[in-house]
Amino acid sequence: MSTATIPSRANLLREASLTICGRREGKTKACNSCLRKADAVVRLARAGEQNRDLVPRLADIVCGSASQPCRACWYKTTTLLLELRG
Ligand SMILES: [Zn+2]
Ligand SMILES: [Zn+2]
Repeated sequence: MSTATIPSRANLLREASLTICGRREGKTKACNSCLRKADAVVRLARAGEQNRDLVPRLADIVCGSASQPCRACWYKTTTLLLELRG
């Protein structure tokens, strides 16, 4: 039996943190700040799939803003949710 095709939680977190931190060629690791954000986002995304306010809340975490996430972070958040649900 192989579990190779099932993304582990660690893998998921790593991918999410890279999306938040910004993907660049050769970059394999997000910074600590983005790792923490990814952890919060992945947990909330799983807990609140039916929540209408999920995207604004997650975008706020990603941006680190006080309820004023910028366009770039909105975009990252929607990308993240697609990745998490795909
Ligand atoms: Zn970062
Ligand atoms: Zn932002």
